[in-house]
Amino acid sequence: MADQYNREMHKVTCSECGKETEVPFKPDGTRPVYCKDCYMKHKKPRDNY
Ligand SMILES: [Zn+2]
Repeated sequence: MADQYNREMHKVTCSECGKETEVPFKPDGTRPVYCKDCYMKHKKPRDNY
């Protein structure tokens, strides 16, 4: 059996663009959640990998 992670997706509304999206973590309600596009925008472009 493959021990693949069964990621639970949670429906959220993006804090930036208001688009409905899904995130693989449980939103705690205190931090903004972003859709993939906005998440990429908020990521520091010059972060080291
Ligand atoms: Zn967004």
